[in-house]
Amino acid sequence: MNNRQILHAGNFADVLKHAALVRIVAHLKENDTAFRVVDTHAGAGLYDLTSDEVQEAGEWHSGIGRLLEASLPADADRLLEPYLSIIRTLNPDSTLSCYPGSPILVRELFRKQDRLSAIELHPQDGAALKSLFDGDYQTRVTALDGWLALGAHLPPKEQRGVVLVDPPFEAEGEYDRLVDGLARAYGRWPSGLYCLWYPIRDGAPIAAFHRKLRALGVANLLCAELHVCDAKETNRLSGSGVIFVNMPTALEDELAVLLPALEVCLAQTPQSHHSVFRIGESD
Ligand code: SAM
Repeated sequence: MNNRQILHAGNFADVLKHAALVRIVAHLKENDTAFRVVDTHAGAGLYDLTSDEVQEAGEWHSGIGRLLEASLPADADRLLEPYLSIIRTLNPDSTLSCYPGSPILVRELFRKQDRLSAIELHPQDGAALKSLFDGDYQTRVTALDGWLALGAHLPPKEQRGVVLVDPPFEAEGEYDRLVDGLARAYGRWPSGLYCLWYPIRDGAPIAAFHRKLRALGVANLLCAELHVCDAKETNRLSGSGVIFVNMPTALEDELAVLLPALEVCLAQTPQSHHSVFRIGESD
């Protein structure tokens, strides 16, 4: 496995995914009943942004670095506050030296009844994650193929919660694996919330991916995409998207506030754009 996730920590794609994830957890907390977050590709948990290679890659500067400095519209600011306040608490000095991954972000928001299943296959990242959560009775870190967890770990005993599927997209066929993974997971747990991340770059099979998702017949498929430039303008990532399943309608309203604000803040060229739409309706 070629794991270079640390180079991408805090980039514009992380910002979209993590801002949305924090909103989902905020909605789950509106009800007192316990919920579980299943993070199938959990990463190392906490990323040191100070190393030479991360500084050189510089991706966080155009992601979380920009967002922290931005002057946001009040409604977007309010929605982003729980996410940004975790990052500010982790970085009490004015310089950003570490960035939290999805397991830390959700765990910071938990009440005592909520639980996290964090799955990570990479031995080094898995060990780092395990040591971060050592002794935490609310979190279980497992070294397992995350795709398998979409079968074996669902539904969770709480019968409430969200499954984050955030693969590295280093191997061929990851878009199809996302579709197959959702089909399997949804078959086992149709009332679960799902949050699936995917990258957008020139030539990526996004239209086919959406078509295959639509063909699953899963109700309530929502998609948010943020393109920081046109795909033809770069040979790197030009955007990213998140597929949401079974989300409360309030989240759709929040995405309609967040995406324009994130675009203004994270755009890299005038060709940036965003969209929030239901797959099967306007796709
Ligand atoms: N979800 C994390 C976050 O938001 O902070 C980031 C995850 S990163 C994009 C993808 C992670 O998946 C990497 O840490 C990689 O080691 C891990 N990974 C790759 N293949 C995996 C697999 N089959 N099962 C579980 N984890 C895997």
